[in-house]
Amino acid sequence: METPVIIVGGGPVGLAVAGDLGWRGLPSLLIERSDGAVRQPKMDMVLVRTMEFCRRWGIVNEIETSGYNRAHVQDNVWVTALAGGYELGREPFPNCIEEACPPQSPQKRERAPQNFFDPALARFVRRFPQTELRYQTEIVDFTQDEKGVTAIIRDLTSGETQEVRAQYLIGCDGAGSFVREKLGIGMTGNPVLTYTTNVVFRSRDLESVQDVPLAYRYIFVDDEGTWATLVAIDGRDHFRFSLVGGRDKRPLSDEELTAAVRRAVGRDCEIEIVSTMPWTRRELVADSYGSNRVFLVGDSAHQLSPTGAFGMNTGLQESVDIAWKLEACVRGWGGPNLLASYEIERKPVAARNVAEAARNLARMLETRTRKPPAEIFTPGPNGDAARKAYGDWYTERMSHEWFTLGIQLGYRYDGSPICVPDDTTPPPFDPANYVQSSHAGARAPHVWLADGRSTLDLFGKGFVLLRLGKNAPDPRTLVDAAATRHVPLSVVELDEPAVTQLYEKALVLVRPDGHVAWRGDAPPADVLGLVDRVRGA
Ligand SMILES: Cc1cc2nc3c(=O)[nH]c(=O)nc-3n(C[C@H](O)[C@H](O)[C@H](O)COP(=O)(O)OP(=O)(O)OC[C@H]3O[C@@H](n4cnc5c(N)ncnc54)[C@H](O)[C@@H]3O)c2cc1C
Repeated sequence: METPVIIVGGGPVGLAVAGDLGWRGLPSLLIERSDGAVRQPKMDMVLVRTMEFCRRWGIVNEIETSGYNRAHVQDNVWVTALAGGYELGREPFPNCIEEACPPQSPQKRERAPQNFFDPALARFVRRFPQTELRYQTEIVDFTQDEKGVTAIIRDLTSGETQEVRAQYLIGCDGAGSFVREKLGIGMTGNPVLTYTTNVVFRSRDLESVQDVPLAYRYIFVDDEGTWATLVAIDGRDHFRFSLVGGRDKRPLSDEELTAAVRRAVGRDCEIEIVSTMPWTRRELVADSYGSNRVFLVGDSAHQLSPTGAFGMNTGLQESVDIAWKLEACVRGWGGPNLLASYEIERKPVAARNVAEAARNLARMLETRTRKPPAEIFTPGPNGDAARKAYGDWYTERMSHEWFTLGIQLGYRYDGSPICVPDDTTPPPFDPANYVQSSHAGARAPHVWLADGRSTLDLFGKGFVLLRLGKNAPDPRTLVDAAATRHVPLSVVELDEPAVTQLYEKALVLVRPDGHVAWRGDAPPADVLGLVDRVRGA
């Protein structure tokens, strides 16, 4: 069997690679070891940039209607127990229906746990007849040569193996990646932050027995500090409880886990355990993102603490970065250095997100060294005053985890060999805030257009050259140069003051992933040189 791209692993990241390739009209084969059913949803927060990708793919409605109760409150709250305990502090948020889009984006974040999100992505992938999605199929070996990759895959229902020849192989096979192991790529960082245990359980009466007002996420504090969290994973009757744990690994029985849930709730209520998952919280980035024709995307390339919800969202950004480069190389207009830019652009972003997630965890666990005062567990005015002081401190520490627009949208490919900077200084990076800019490497800014579209709706399949303002120069030399190299490029002329002002230059060249490749007030003298640079030649 032959296919341009074989994707190993059908978690959210593998599905996004297959989906983006399919959307570009490029065939691929995705193999996934499981049957595709998600029994222990890990991620549930789909951040703004990922929703912008969903907008591009035309599946925003699919995600919004995928199953989460969007009317459920999204507050985060720190408590001693849900019933008979105390609320220490709260960060309120509107529910998913009422939450507004940030001014920098046409989209807002969504709650879609993996048991809803992955099937929605799989339905998107199935729209493309040229894309094959094979479940219960695993990779057992692969080799690569100058022209391609030969993979041996096994059908887990029949036991039969098959040889597949592809031009590229993408390892989206998660934390224990076989593809990474086979390439001999190590990981650097901290292999154990905590040994944590998740319990997904069903309870119809939990929210009626609690006396703490409803929230999405509850963080439990006892006299030893933060010890557990609870989230509403469908906004109805399914919850995920996490015993945060520490550096000691200890297997826990269902009885112990049920007792821990009851302790957090503080009052008797019906609890039906659906699944449990011991897991190791890590802070790791792969030493390399692949070599030659094989690349790592998603958790195979980095593993981080979920504090911040950056894991899958970072992986989705990688999917979109690599997919257009794969398309360019398969179709022949991508230069020999184009795929090498994937690691150069993405590894620093992963390293930054992995470190920020670990800092968020450290802030949450600071309570273990700065122990809560005994008064916060006692009734009366002294207790109230202690709870207020402690809660305010905790709320300030935790705010870093909730306000992350800089992380979500502000990643910029500074130093990328396929972006051409000018002599101006881009805005500094700030994890919490995001200033839109059209500097080379940045996500091209969002502006609402007069016809109701976002500027983001202009980008995606090929390069787009924005010609902005009445007096924008004729870009013909640049367009001709792109045609000479078979680089797909379309020109969009806009004379809308808000766009002209924010984009700053008269000509802005935007890549297929929506990042700025180059900008200027006139085409450069060496137009072929520019085209060759941005196509990685
Ligand atoms: C408690 C928790 C909460 C989280 N919350 C969030 C959140 O809110 N937002 C967020 O962005 N991230 C979150 N994350 C992180 C997120 O879940 C991961 O980053 C994400 O699942 C990674 O996706 P992936 O597709 O790279 O890997 P995975 O989801 O691990 O998928 C890898 C797939 O590869 C398959 N596979 C493995 N080996 C083979 C093989 N040899 N052959 C074929 N198939 C194979 C596996 O079966 C699996 O389906 C959370 C993580 C945890 C633990």
